[in-house]
Amino acid sequence: MDCPKCKLVSPPGAERCDCGYDFKTGTMKESYLTDRDKQLSKPQIGVAIIASLLVARLLFALIKTALDENSATPAVLAVVLLAGIAGFWIWKGRASRR
Ligand SMILES: [Zn+2]
Repeated sequence: MDCPKCKLVSPPGAERCDCGYDFKTGTMKESYLTDRDKQLSKPQIGVAIIASLLVARLLFALIKTALDENSATPAVLAVVLLAGIAGFWIWKGRASRR
């Protein structure tokens, strides 16, 4: 089903396009996507990239310290931190799929 307004192809069972066009009545209605969804989708990616860069920097610093001081503690910290972040992303991915 093609939207006459924005030309987006919607699944056959769709009652309303993402832009808010209602196929049944042929009128414009409020989009299913809320303003909150539109606002959050892009800034969240930016925050995630910045956070990843900061974490990568921190991990690099910890590994460098471990090599310089020939000590295992910073390396263990780095692994724990990495495991924690991986766990967080897996948990976040599961939560968003619900
Ligand atoms: Zn549309």
